[in-house]
Amino acid sequence: MTTMVATLRGAETTISDEDLEELRAAVRGDVLTPGDPGWAEMRPPYNAMHPGRPALVVRPTGTADVVAAITFARERQLLVAVRGGGHSIAGLSSVDGGMLLDLARMDGVEVDPLARTVHVQAGALVGDMDHETQAFGLVAPNGIVSDTGVAGLTLGGGEGWVRRKYGMAVDNLLSAQVVGADGHVRTASAESEPDLFWAIRGGGGNFGVVTSFTFRCHPVGPTVAFAGVFHPVEDAEDVYRRFRDWAESAPDEVSAMIGCTTLPPSEHTPPEVHNTPFVVTAAVHSGDPDAGMEVLGPLREIGTPLVDISGPLPYAGVQSAFDEFFRRGTLRSYWKSTYVEHLTDPIVDILVDRARNRPSARTFVIAFLMGGAINRVPVEETPYSERSANWMVSFDGNWEDPADDERVISWVRGAWGQVHELGTGTLYLNFTGVADEATTVGVESAFDKANLQRLEEIKAHYDPDNFFRLNNNITPASYDGRASAT
Ligand SMILES: Cc1cc2nc3c(=O)[nH]c(=O)nc-3n(C[C@H](O)[C@H](O)[C@H](O)COP(=O)(O)OP(=O)(O)OC[C@H]3O[C@@H](n4cnc5c(N)ncnc54)[C@H](O)[C@@H]3O)c2cc1C
Repeated sequence: MTTMVATLRGAETTISDEDLEELRAAVRGDVLTPGDPGWAEMRPPYNAMHPGRPALVVRPTGTADVVAAITFARERQLLVAVRGGGHSIAGLSSVDGGMLLDLARMDGVEVDPLARTVHVQAGALVGDMDHETQAFGLVAPNGIVSDTGVAGLTLGGGEGWVRRKYGMAVDNLLSAQVVGADGHVRTASAESEPDLFWAIRGGGGNFGVVTSFTFRCHPVGPTVAFAGVFHPVEDAEDVYRRFRDWAESAPDEVSAMIGCTTLPPSEHTPPEVHNTPFVVTAAVHSGDPDAGMEVLGPLREIGTPLVDISGPLPYAGVQSAFDEFFRRGTLRSYWKSTYVEHLTDPIVDILVDRARNRPSARTFVIAFLMGGAINRVPVEETPYSERSANWMVSFDGNWEDPADDERVISWVRGAWGQVHELGTGTLYLNFTGVADEATTVGVESAFDKANLQRLEEIKAHYDPDNFFRLNNNITPASYDGRASAT
């Protein structure tokens, strides 16, 4: 028996049973081919549009396994996908025919409460990290859905409910361990491999496999002030404007968003909104919960809501509030985001029109309030480059039937184009879908020009042959496009 695996050159190579045995002997984790026991139990990717069909899967238990897997793949020039949490909107959680390095078994999290840091293995999910940090009343800034991977989220920037007080995930990264294309393990921090450390704070999975992260934590929770107010979509015009007016002068403790969608009945949402298109305004105050509820008060006085579920809530509960609506493998997703300086009236008009005319029930039209601590970081400090916009607008196309692919995708592109031309010209790579686009889509717009040039130079140093290419791909400076295949 042999296994055929896709190569970097777009061909296939034969992996013999002896080769597989060699790999199995080198790793403590799993080495699986389709149909092996354990194959069906793997954590699937989120995006049903991109399930992937890997020919070979390695599920490492630690850095040593990652080194063995990367060395094995590199020697044979295999096409490799790296899966942290598997939530890639772009469909980069898997590969067709190649080798998948699935980090799901590496989900350890350890908090140092005295130093206020957390050490996280790269297969951990946001919920794994929150669970441990909240035991100490701490938070490491990350995302707002607990099932998302810490790794991909962080490598692309990472925005969540404490972003305006404490910044993006990348702004709180202290160090990471990285296995390079050469199989070497490096510690990336301000003192060690500073260029690599700079590059992974927004440059994605281009520079190697991150096996663990250490983040700075902040005292937040276990209870936080939360506002969640649902309005009929008919009131969108008034609600979007009044929310905008309130949000733009909110203190840094407040991270807020406004969104429109329709959700199926669930015990986690009030009956008033089941199967009813709604506009929701939502906010978290990261300070004292009672004082926070006062600050969020005006948000609750907008219009005549369908229902108001605001109140002090466990931070971990807020973090998992949306989970149920994003179950892995259930939705096809194509999202596009763009940053705007302000939610001007013309932009609000577009959002309201699009909110009322969504192409599928589960499509979201969202505006995230950004700014605060995020915008106090100099642009050159991290590759993640958007440090001036006050808002990120995201059109999140979600649907179930493949027959709707073209219709929803073209709606998302159209809506995005309308707002993008009124914005800063930048976008968020973590919210960038891929349908028939190349994986380089959005890369030029995501980064400041000087930052992109520096990323290309660092890529050329650490991965000159573009071995790590199934990501929001950064072309190595002077790259001639030919992988050095044997
Ligand atoms: C339902 C949902 C909610 C989301 N909410 C938020 C949010 O609140 N805030 C936010 O900022 N983003 C959010 N995102 C976007 C999310 O940040 C990106 O999709 C991110 O890429 C997911 O990371 P992952 O590890 O789960 O994904 P994966 O698919 O595992 O990885 C995504 C990319 O990162 C690379 N990668 C993953 N792990 C590693 C590693 N250890 N080393 C090197 N490269 C690696 C992969 O190769 C791939 O290119 C959300 C996405 C979804 C689907």
